[in-house]
This record gives sequence, structure tokens and C-alpha cells, in this order.
Amino acid sequence: MGVTIDTDVVVVGGGLVGSASAALLARQGVAVTLVERRPSTSVHPKARLVTVRSMELYRGLGIESAVRAAGEPSHGFAVTDTLSGDLSTWIAPPADEVEAGDLSPTTPYSCDQQRLEPILLSAAGDLGADVRFGTTVVDVVERPDAVEVRVQGPDGPRVIRAQFVVAADGARSALRERLGVAMSGTEVPGRSVSAVFRADLEPALRGRTVDAVFCRAAGAFLFARGNGVDRRWQLGTYVRPEWTGRDPGDLTAELTGVLREATGMPDVQPVLEDVALWSTGAFVADRFRSGRVFLVGDAAHVMPPYGGLGGNTGVQDAHALAWMLAAVVRGDAPEPLLDRYETERRPIDRLIVDQALLRSRKAPGQGPAEGEVDPLRISLGQHYGTNEAAAFDDPARPTMATGTRAPHVALADGRSLLDRFDPRRFTVVTAEHLAVADHRLHVVSVGLADLDPRHGGRWMDTYGRATAHLVRPDGILAGAVDDTDDLGRLVDRTLAITGSSVDGRRWRRGD
Ligand SMILES: Cc1cc2nc3c(=O)[nH]c(=O)nc-3n(C[C@H](O)[C@H](O)[C@H](O)COP(=O)(O)OP(=O)(O)OC[C@H]3O[C@@H](n4cnc5c(N)ncnc54)[C@H](O)[C@@H]3O)c2cc1C
Repeated sequence: MGVTIDTDVVVVGGGLVGSASAALLARQGVAVTLVERRPSTSVHPKARLVTVRSMELYRGLGIESAVRAAGEPSHGFAVTDTLSGDLSTWIAPPADEVEAGDLSPTTPYSCDQQRLEPILLSAAGDLGADVRFGTTVVDVVERPDAVEVRVQGPDGPRVIRAQFVVAADGARSALRERLGVAMSGTEVPGRSVSAVFRADLEPALRGRTVDAVFCRAAGAFLFARGNGVDRRWQLGTYVRPEWTGRDPGDLTAELTGVLREATGMPDVQPVLEDVALWSTGAFVADRFRSGRVFLVGDAAHVMPPYGGLGGNTGVQDAHALAWMLAAVVRGDAPEPLLDRYETERRPIDRLIVDQALLRSRKAPGQGPAEGEVDPLRISLGQHYGTNEAAAFDDPARPTMATGTRAPHVALADGRSLLDRFDPRRFTVVTAEHLAVADHRLHVVSVGLADLDPRHGGRWMDTYGRATAHLVRPDGILAGAVDDTDDLGRLVDRTLAITGSSVDGRRWRRGD
């Protein structure tokens, strides 16, 4: 076996979630190597909706403006008979109607996955990640003190030795299978087809702008892809039993027929660029951790695409895991902290998969199903409970409970309080002027003059309720204290450190 490379973390898979993982880990200062078997990022557009929480994470990585430039505001999801008909009935309204005022410094957005992945990978590279395309993981061997990832790349076989592996190798994750981790859930029957094409649909649109439309006449979705400067379209429909073509390349006549029905343009002649057949389900992995390997994204859960939740949930997994891995790699926390990734993310991911399944079972355009949760709650209201409980809270009424997202407060300088959090350390939000010697803490002192006057009330209802609030590196609340001497103990508890630092001795790796 060829050269051995040493690193802290290997990310397997350079799809949306692997790319996000590499960038988020590199930002933590962790040495990360990403391996992707394909020669480049993906070409077929899949995820398009970027939720407001994902946009917050991209803002934290400094790529919000690049994502905005590569996509366009979400124009909502309409339901109609054909594209030529009335487009005023919404399945999901345009983004500016779902922002719910000012709960976040950013907004939901539309950016195609194949445009987003290169932005994330470029950020990962700029932050120091080692990104290797054309490199396939063939085996993973756990040793007592490390994990060996055997890869086959352009220069032949190599071994990458790391402390941990992030498995972002997609729905058919070979790593998950190798570890013997089963998936539990529900089959979603049928096969779907997705076709990317160019065509002049202006005769049907007549100057109207759409993002996504369900066309009842054809039982097909039409998605605007790219942006106004470089417009493509995507047709999404189910594979009809009478279709004789079995390969994506054999379906040109069938797809053209569906498009003509969907648009109400009997002569439209699409230029098909890429056709993909796919199927889905609603499954969650029984475990998210096996020894030194952690499952994220589609490797950990698959869900129907309704609601645009799959990729966004995976990016949140990557974010939830990155700070924990970094804390352990840096020696700031013991390994049991890493168990928390599964106990926090798996229950919330189960709820999200259930939401995607609920949405997939109703006819497009039908009102909310019983138990359907508002997208803003799913995105901003995730509440990690204790004992593997999870819930969606109302982000418009923050409770400041431990395990919920630290709420946004607008500052007088035009920024958000969220912009002042330190992604590598715990942030103490307080109205006091505090001097702390603990290297794990970053203090943000906020006086009334620092607040945007419109958010004075929000501050009093949230952070103003206690002397100090502790925010984890992932922007999740870790608790509140009235005596700031208690902060160190709260950090210890959050990092799963038991008993050692209270008497002045800081926990170190190997203790
Ligand atoms: C039609 C459609 C529409 C969708 N719309 C949305 C949406 O609007 N919003 C949303 O959030 N989600 C959406 N999704 C879901 C979203 O596309 C997926 O959740 C997302 O791609 C998952 O990303 P991932 O990185 O986990 O997996 P993938 O994108 O599947 O990436 C896995 C990567 O791992 C690589 N790999 C696998 N094995 C190895 C190996 N052994 N060695 C090296 N590399 C390996 C693969 O080549 C691949 O690049 C949609 C999905 C579909 C099909």
C-alpha cells in the first residue's frame, strides 16, 4: 500500500454534505482531508431550496454573498393546471413572505446544489482542507488509537490515517453498510425521473417569474434552474408503467410529451441535457456513530424531496458534528462528547424525515396535513432535548431553553448578535463587562446602545433574562447563569467533562 497521509479527520464524499463538513471542520482549525470518487462536483441539480438556517451557516462561513450570486431569491412554489395557466395558488409562498419578520439576519434562498457544492469546496480549500477528487475509499480499518482509510486515487493506493471519519457518502453509503448500521423507516413506492433541459418557455410564462410549479395536467413539477442570467429548467415526474424506455437516454420522447402537457405548449422542443432516474424513502440510520466513524447527510437519513429538507438537514448534521470533533481533536473535551452527536441529531432528523413523508403523501397544493410543521419551525426551531427527545419550537417566541438556537438580535451597527459568536469557542452573551481567563470562552458584552432600537424588546425578552447566557460553538444555547463564576462548570458539563476542572485542573486528552 502506497504513501500514508496523517490528518485529523477524513471526510468521505464530496457531495453537498461532505463539502459542507470539510469547510466547517477546516474553519475549526482541524486538519481535514476530503475524498470524492467522482472527478468533479455533481452535475445534476438536486437540492435547490436553501433554508434560512443553512443560509445562517453559510453566512458564518463567509460565503453568503457567493451563494446569493449563484442563485436567486425563492419565488415560491405554485400549483396550476399548466404553466400557461393561473400561477397565483401557492404550495409555498415566495421567500419574502415566509421570513416571518426579523428572526434571522438572512433569508431562505434558492441555489442549485451543483452551484453550491463548488462554493463550499472552494471555502474548504481556502480554510486549509485537502480536497482529493477521483479518490475512492475502498476500506476503513479501526485501530485502537486511529482509523485507517484505504483509498484508490489517481496516484494509486494510499492509506490516510486519521482520528475520525465523517461518512458523507450518500444514501447508498458503503461505509454505513460496512459498519453494519441498518436503516429504519418506510418505503416510498415508485420511481421518479428528473430531466434538465433548455427551452424557451416564455410563451407560457408571459413575463411571470416562477421558481417551482406543479402542473396538474401532466402530474409533473417544473423547476427554474440556474438563475435569470443562465436559465435552465428541470422536469420532475414519475416513471409511467407504460413507458418502454428503461435507461435515462431512452426517455426523450416520453419526457417531451410530459413537458408539452405541463407547459400547455404543444410544440415546445426541449434540448435535454441530463436525465436521472431515482427513488426515495423515509429512513433514518439506527446509529449515527460507530467507533470513530460518524454518519452525516443522506448516509444517515433519506427522505422524500418535498419541502426541500434533505440537503439542508445534512448540512445541519455536519455543523452539529464539526465543533464536537474539533473540541476532542484539540484536547478540550473527552471522547464521550461525541456520543452527543447521535443523541442530539438522530431524534431531530427522525422528526424532519417524518415531516418530509407527510408532505409527500398529500396532493400538491393541498393544505397542510395534520401534524405538518411550518418550515420556519423546522429550520430555526429545532430543540435538542434530553434523553433523546426532540421538538420544533416556535422561533418567534424563543424560550432560551438549553438545546435551542440562540436567537438573533439586530445590533445598532447593522450586524446580528449571531455574527459576533465565535465558532471555535463558547460565547458568553452578557450585559456586563466580564474578564475571563478561560481560553474556551469568548465574551460578547452588549449594552443598550449596542442594540438596534427595534430589537430592544427582543433583547429584554431573551438574553436580558439572565446575567449571562452560554452559547456553544454551533450557536446552540448551553444554559444561563446568574453568577458568572458558574460559567466554567457549565462549559465542562456541556463538553462532557466530569469532575476534573472544578478543582482548578483542566481536562486534557489522555487524562
Ligand atoms: C430530485 C431531488 C430534489 C431534491 N431537492 C432538495 C431540496 O430542494 N432541498 C434539499 O435540502 N434537499 C433536496 N434533495 C436532497 C439532496 O439532494 C440530498 O439530500 C443531498 O444530495 C445529500 O447530500 P450528501 O452529500 O449527503 O449525499 P450525496 O449528494 O449523494 O453525496 C455523496 C457523495 O459521496 C461520494 N461517494 C460515495 N461513496 C464514496 C466512496 N467510497 N469514496 C469516495 N466518495 C464516495 C459520491 O460520489 C457522492 O458525491 C433533493 C433530492 C432529489 C433527488
